[in-house]
Amino acid sequence: MSEAQSLSAVVCPECQTLIPERRLKQGAKTCSKTCATRREKALFYYSSGVVLGIPRSTVGALSELMVCVDLMRRGYHVFRAVSYHCPCDLIVLNEEQFLRVEVRTVYRSKANGKVVGNRSHRADCWAGVLIAENEVVYEPPIETLFSLALPRHFSSCSA
Ligand SMILES: [Zn+2]
Repeated sequence: MSEAQSLSAVVCPECQTLIPERRLKQGAKTCSKTCATRREKALFYYSSGVVLGIPRSTVGALSELMVCVDLMRRGYHVFRAVSYHCPCDLIVLNEEQFLRVEVRTVYRSKANGKVVGNRSHRADCWAGVLIAENEVVYEPPIETLFSLALPRHFSSCSA
């Protein structure tokens, strides 16, 4: 079988259409960028347990706990939100300073290695959890926030 014949038989695992030869030559495993993103998300949810029967909300709770553990290992005091309607997921206390932290379950793009996930939040710090890699990414880095932050009071928290 020639290379052209073997290439022409490859079907996109997302939409079941044939993958264009041009993309196959670039090493693509899907027919389009849209399907590549869908495929990456599907593999992420598989690796994070959603497909294996763990509900999405449980995955969210798992991510929050992973951030709690990570922050406690760094020596901070951590407080969890009691209501789902709180403006952030965690409060981190370092002596007199506190920060609001929003936790998101994220994944790493196989294409460029970047951390991909929802970055919308109203907190001081965004914590992206890579469950499969057992890693937490803070944006901006939490240590830099604490070194810049002035002592604050909880009354400045806006809901
Ligand atoms: Zn496709």
